[in-house]
Amino acid sequence: MTEKLAEIASQSRNLFLEEYGHFIDGKWVGGASGKIITQINPATGQSLANIQAGNAADVENAVAAAARAFPAWSRTHCRQRQAILTEMATRLRARADDFAMMESLNNGKTIMEARHFDIEMAIDLLSYFAAAAGVGIPGETHDYPDAIGFVHREPIGVVAQIIPWNVPLIMATAKLAPALAAGVTVVLKPAETVCLAVLEFIREVADLLPPGVVNIVTGYGADVGEALVTHPLVRKVAFTGSVFTGRKIIEYASRNIIPQTLELGGKSAQIVCPTADIDAAVRGAVESTIVNKGEICLAGSRVFVHDAIREEFVHKFAEALNRVELGDPTLPDTQMGAQASKAQFDKIMGYLDLAASEGATVLTGGERACGGLLDKGYFIKPTLLDNARNDMRVAREEIFGPVTAVIGWSDEADVMRQANDSDYGLGGGIWSRDIAQVHRMARNFQTGTIWVNKYYNLRVGMPLGGFKQSGFGREFSTDILRDYTISKSVILHMEDA
Ligand code: NAD
Repeated sequence: MTEKLAEIASQSRNLFLEEYGHFIDGKWVGGASGKIITQINPATGQSLANIQAGNAADVENAVAAAARAFPAWSRTHCRQRQAILTEMATRLRARADDFAMMESLNNGKTIMEARHFDIEMAIDLLSYFAAAAGVGIPGETHDYPDAIGFVHREPIGVVAQIIPWNVPLIMATAKLAPALAAGVTVVLKPAETVCLAVLEFIREVADLLPPGVVNIVTGYGADVGEALVTHPLVRKVAFTGSVFTGRKIIEYASRNIIPQTLELGGKSAQIVCPTADIDAAVRGAVESTIVNKGEICLAGSRVFVHDAIREEFVHKFAEALNRVELGDPTLPDTQMGAQASKAQFDKIMGYLDLAASEGATVLTGGERACGGLLDKGYFIKPTLLDNARNDMRVAREEIFGPVTAVIGWSDEADVMRQANDSDYGLGGGIWSRDIAQVHRMARNFQTGTIWVNKYYNLRVGMPLGGFKQSGFGREFSTDILRDYTISKSVILHMEDA
């Protein structure tokens, strides 16, 4: 561990306040309900800080502040918005180790992953949208014999943003950065289970943001979410979370007919072909099982392995999972930390019971990890389910944990049919050295992102989003700027043209 990280780990309690308010109109304020929610370290069970359990009255104040701020903010020079986003990225980089530790303590992910994946990606998102902001959002012109048409893209208004607990700072920056670039104002609701790094980041950059441009209301989904999305001054909602809640968001949004961006769940397939580099494919399968303890929407949790190489693949995959070092997520050698909450832990354990009753073979893992520190937290051994079938619930439903099912295949058309036989379509992997096969499979894959010969090769700038029930709209790229703006057509008649 670097000296800096060791020092932060030893003083970890100092990273957080005892209690956080909502951030409304540029100020930290108490909640109307007077109720709080305690944030827990899932690796130790210790409490870290309290947040407000928001309600409709808090939402009212936050939306009113965002509506007041909108006219001036939407007309700021695009280079001013660029400067703010650039400074936000700079400040996040300056305290990158601190923020990595906060994510690790609150979410249970390893410090190394938080530092090198979460924080770097959040910085990249802020930097990318800073650059996009500086360019501005160009309109169009159209010529007619007797008229000229101008299409302006205007910031859409107050936007409601709701994010999950698995990668909080990535989610917050993926939502806030394009919103700021586009010139909209925001009320963001982070997840009630894990949100301390998001609140601390807002504390870090609060002086950069004119009052009301970004407002944060914490609390339970049902108490805050419905009031927020159905508020008559909210013009758009951007949501990341489960399909279950996504359906509710669509219903709420239907009341005032506002557009939605929905980034929902996944059950992504990886297809390992006979020409694949088997060791690389095994590394990809291991990563997609253990990164963020499997609590990632893009996890490639259905691995279809060609029968010709399946025995070797499964043997190496099980061995590699057995070697994964579980433990204190704040230590640098730990490879996998704790599941983020008791609710998530219980859900995953339920799927492990189900796997056995459905007839999958548990080759490794399949149970809680115990011993020493592990007894205090929500640790589950990385799990390989062999002899799975695509019609099993463990292959159809999102487990959101370190559990991967392996399914054999022999015919390309059939494996494509099975890979696409899913309610979801978010990520996907192809492992093959046959370039024609790669292109053929990628063309037939019904999914939003496909990684070839390296899984989780995420790049800011490449549109990220789903097919089917994985949602609609694309984030991580300038595509999202269209969602935060609305076009207006002005047709100028020219009598003497
Ligand atoms: P969730 O749907 O339970 O919660 C997500 C957010 O919605 C939280 O802030 C929650 O408080 C809020 N919420 C809950 N009920 C609500 C309601 N009735 N109205 C408004 N808001 C409400 O999901 P989760 O368990 O926090 O996150 C895991 C899910 O998120 C998984 O399905 C995962 O695949 C998905 N996810 C998707 C992406 C993506 O980019 N597609 C990224 C990360 C996570």
